[in-house]
Amino acid sequence: MINLCITSRISSLPIVIAHLKGYFSEYETNVSIQSITHHKAILALLEAGRIEAGEIPSIAYLHECFLKKSRIKRIYKGIPLYRSPLSYYSRFRFQASDLSRSKGYFIPVPHFHSVERLLAEKFLEDYAPKNPVKVRFMDTPSFLEEKEFLRPGCLGLASDPLLSPFLKNYHDFRDEEASPLLNSSGFIPSTLLAFSGDCILKMGRQVSGVLLAIKKAIDFINEASLSSNPKVWDDLNLHQYYPHLRTSDVKNIIFANPLVQKGVFSYEVNTDTLSPLLKDNYFRVIRRIMTPDTIRPLLNFEEILEALAPKKLFDVRKLSSFQSGGAKEQHAPSLINYRKLNAIRHLIVDVNSVALDVLQGNFQSRLNTEENLLLDNRVKVIINAMIDSFNSTFAMQKEEIAELENLISILEIKLDRSAVDLQYSEEKYRYLFEFSREAIALVDADTGNILEANHQFRHLTGYTRADLTKLTIEDIIIGEQISSQINFNQDNTQDTMLSLPDVNILLKDGSTIGVDLSFASILLSPRKRYQVQFRPNSERKEQERLQHEFISNVSHELRSPMTNIRGYLEFFKSDKTLPYNAEHLNMLEVIDKNAKRLNFLIENMLKLTTSREKEREDEVVEFFDPVPIIEDVIHMNSHLAKGKTLEWDISLKKGLLIKGIRFEFSQIVTNLYINALKYTFKGKISVTLISLPNSMELTVSDTGIGIDANYKNQIFDRFFRIPSTDNRKIGGTGLGLSIVKSLVEKMGGEIYVESKLGEGSTFKVSLPLASISS
Ligand code: ADP
Repeated sequence: MINLCITSRISSLPIVIAHLKGYFSEYETNVSIQSITHHKAILALLEAGRIEAGEIPSIAYLHECFLKKSRIKRIYKGIPLYRSPLSYYSRFRFQASDLSRSKGYFIPVPHFHSVERLLAEKFLEDYAPKNPVKVRFMDTPSFLEEKEFLRPGCLGLASDPLLSPFLKNYHDFRDEEASPLLNSSGFIPSTLLAFSGDCILKMGRQVSGVLLAIKKAIDFINEASLSSNPKVWDDLNLHQYYPHLRTSDVKNIIFANPLVQKGVFSYEVNTDTLSPLLKDNYFRVIRRIMTPDTIRPLLNFEEILEALAPKKLFDVRKLSSFQSGGAKEQHAPSLINYRKLNAIRHLIVDVNSVALDVLQGNFQSRLNTEENLLLDNRVKVIINAMIDSFNSTFAMQKEEIAELENLISILEIKLDRSAVDLQYSEEKYRYLFEFSREAIALVDADTGNILEANHQFRHLTGYTRADLTKLTIEDIIIGEQISSQINFNQDNTQDTMLSLPDVNILLKDGSTIGVDLSFASILLSPRKRYQVQFRPNSERKEQERLQHEFISNVSHELRSPMTNIRGYLEFFKSDKTLPYNAEHLNMLEVIDKNAKRLNFLIENMLKLTTSREKEREDEVVEFFDPVPIIEDVIHMNSHLAKGKTLEWDISLKKGLLIKGIRFEFSQIVTNLYINALKYTFKGKISVTLISLPNSMELTVSDTGIGIDANYKNQIFDRFFRIPSTDNRKIGGTGLGLSIVKSLVEKMGGEIYVESKLGEGSTFKVSLPLASISS
């Protein structure tokens, strides 16, 4: 009985047919067939003496033959099952340059040691000789080929058309590409049916029976496919051998094959085609230096083919190639040695008990090596050494754990210490906060809630701690809309400082006092808070008042005598009848000059004391031409451009009239103009004023750093500054534009910005034009 193992590839079809059609028994052989997906399993079975013959890719066969330690030498040459003029497909037509651009390709192949892989490698080498591509070849069972093929990193597929019917739709390189290798008409034995040397020694006649049966099957297949009568296949139950293919698929695969005219399978194989290929490619993989001559006897099928020709049974042992070359090196497997078997049984029992010991935590347990059975002892020593090495790793890990534990306790101590430090500094802060001479409150930046207030604050305002928990900062500030100054519930990542002088706050008893407020943000992650200082300003105000009063009194007192002096001086100067000489006249001139100077000083002092009232006067809403104010702003601030290479383009339309407070308008222009200068290092600043039907439009534009579109709306928020390194270097408060916006709105106008990052910004302000009658 010959046990024969095949793969579930169509390459095994002749064997299957021979079996199904009863050819094996025709040649007086008794064959059992077993189907397996992977050739590696077949090799292992052959090696273990469990099967007599198996279907192996030719290259895998050679590879095993040449491996020094492989016992596969016992496998003797067999019959090539089919010739494989490989079809090399790609999903797309690629250029040689495309190939080298990306390095991460893979190609699914039926077997890692397949002829297809060799051909694909060779093909790629021919295709792009200058930039050899690195391609990974993936061992893929035929039913997964399609899946792999569709993966993006897949360059193509080195497979056989016999296996992959779906490939019809893709590009077949044999059609066009001038690869000498693929165009060669030589047939390459891609699969072999190989017999173990043992089997040939014992069953030489039967082996030749198998070969003849397969030869007959090949003839049948070729005839049947040529007759293109699909009925031939119908009564054959192929499905059990090729579970992943339906019977109709099998038919399609065979009839779709371009080789069908020549006969899909063949036993006439030209091994010469394979030799140079092996020389070029394969010997690179097998490191041992080998000449093609070494493989010739292994792949010499001629004798077999000759012997098959008369269709007589012959004994393969008589073939000369069996006597020489690879065959000579065959050796029969040793008989099962029962003593050894017994020893192995004992060994297994011992190993088992040691394993149990180790599992139960007894790491010192070892195998007894005193018995002198050689093999047995060697294995035991190795197992003991293995346990020793595990044990030492284990011990080392224990040490490492102990070290880590030490480290952890040190860290814990450090952590404790810093916790104490932290507590201390918190207490210190609490103490300083509570007993500060300033009245201070801590305010939540999101909600404005008063979180805490110190003793001085409570003393000043009369609120108790309990009262404060219900209050927000806005509740106690009268009139002043604090949230418009400090945006609660806004961007909390910025630092903020703000002073609000002369604010009235509401005390517990319902009365009010004036204070100066200062806000400082403290960033306590994750929440932001304000520390707000309340400084009663009655004293400051009183002092200022007294100061003013004094100056005003003094200047008034000085003014009246001065008026007298100047009056008399005028009299002396104008009376021409008085007998002055030149010297006298000169003296009078000096007196006059000095009197004028004193007068000027007194007037200035008076002006200063009345400045507050004056300021109020400035706040008068009036009609004015914006141009002089704009010019003034440009004139006053252009020194900020010092050190920069800037050009100006100013074009202002005179004679327009707007309504508002001059000072506020100048604030608008100033802030925009200063920003343009600040955020521009080189280029041009333009300021233009034009009139539109009912409004005027002021444009301040620059060629500076520009504004990221994401921040376009936020820049008008209070305290918002674009978070960039440039901006941090330039510095600012983030208040300028928010002031501009609120003032523009107050004047009934609009502001908007156009900007491109890196190219510049343009701010446009439109304000309604006024007519005096309005
Ligand atoms: P500040 O200039 O004090 O930071 P602003 O409110 O005037 O505050 O401006 C807010 C932010 O808008 C600035 O931080 C800056 O990032 C951006 N910005 C304003 N004007 C310009 C400009 N002309 N070019 C580029 N960025 C600007």
